[in-house]
Amino acid sequence: MRTRIAPTPSGFLHAGNAFNFLVTDRLAKALGAKVLLRIDDLDAERVRPEYVEDIFHSLDWLGIKPDEGPSGPEDFARNWSQQHRIERNKEFAEGLRKQGALYACSCSRTELEEMTRTGAVHHCRVRDPEALEPGTPWRLRIPEHCPVEVPGFDGGSTTVDLAPMMQDPVILQRESGRPSYQVASLCDDVDRGITFIVRGEDLLPSTACQLLLARLLGEVAFARVLFHHHPLALGADGLKLSKSAGATSLMALRENGGSPRSLVAAAVAYADALVKEFKP
Ligand SMILES: [Zn+2]
Repeated sequence: MRTRIAPTPSGFLHAGNAFNFLVTDRLAKALGAKVLLRIDDLDAERVRPEYVEDIFHSLDWLGIKPDEGPSGPEDFARNWSQQHRIERNKEFAEGLRKQGALYACSCSRTELEEMTRTGAVHHCRVRDPEALEPGTPWRLRIPEHCPVEVPGFDGGSTTVDLAPMMQDPVILQRESGRPSYQVASLCDDVDRGITFIVRGEDLLPSTACQLLLARLLGEVAFARVLFHHHPLALGADGLKLSKSAGATSLMALRENGGSPRSLVAAAVAYADALVKEFKP
């Protein structure tokens, strides 16, 4: 079994990230699974070197040693950056475009929200894409009713309707034509043979979207990946941390001489309860 920790270096990591990494790591140990570190630097403009360094410092501080992935910032830049995978991601995106799952659309997020609110027809979804200027972004056409089965750790599955959860996401970006997060994340998980994924509950729509993309692309193994979505921040006693506590940067905690002990304890208790439910 294989799982991954997938931080994004667009800010300093916070307690919510730490909880996710610690739960993932603890589960992996309990299940004899390998942990990969994937630093998601797809959005290159938001990446800063200090954020990349913060990831390595934070993992050290939390006592997490991934089995695979970059050993430090230099190894990351040279061998593991998502920027090296753009051509591979494009194969996935082109696969979707060829079968007509995508449409060209320059509408803003606000315009899309307005159409959803008023029930107006979104003409981009139905017009001929060949008539468009180059550099137009391409979105995934999510069917109006879109049930997606999300396999869980307990051997069961939950079916969610993706349509009301997410606006048609951009798959190929404006101007650069580069594949977006949904494609890149799926592509990486498929290529690395990931078998279970632990995410915050805010990412359930992304999970459902990626399962839909995998279905469209015939990546059948991905439909068997097990998912767990945890509440965004839990305290040592299992109670939700306040927003501000959850948002505290790990760097600030480290610099104030803080210990990760209570975070580790909360994550261990949470993961151990999950292991008891686990039925692969
Ligand atoms: Zn549009």
